[in-house]
Amino acid sequence: MSETEAETLFERIIGGEIPADVVYQDDATFAFRDIRPQARVHVLVVPRKRYRNLGELAAGDPELLARVVLAARKVAELEGVLGSGYRVVFNTDEDAGQTVFHVHAHVLGGEPLGLFGAPEED
Ligand code: AMP
Repeated sequence: MSETEAETLFERIIGGEIPADVVYQDDATFAFRDIRPQARVHVLVVPRKRYRNLGELAAGDPELLARVVLAARKVAELEGVLGSGYRVVFNTDEDAGQTVFHVHAHVLGGEPLGLFGAPEED
């Protein structure tokens, strides 16, 4: 997927052009299930306004970043994992595996999560 295509993917999901399993939405954010879940609960929270990554969102619109974090908590509540715990991940660029260059929070939970940060085994 080229970066240009990747940049438009979430906008097309938000616009309803590409179907998604929507979990939550409000005036600033849109949340839907990841197509390749990495935990029992794996939901993406995307700000409707596009920034490339977490740093650009924080610098450009800190209030919107707070809305994304609050939406992640709302998703955890709706998915029933607020009490058991959840992880919020923002991947940035190549080594982190970012593939869609429209900032998004991964909300993961529903079971004990593994460690993270180490390279994959061969
Ligand atoms: P990242 O690798 O952090 O950029 O995350 C992008 C995420 O988008 C990946 O976890 C993909 O599985 C997910 N994804 C890609 N296409 C879709 C889609 N059409 N619907 C839902 N999730 C998707």
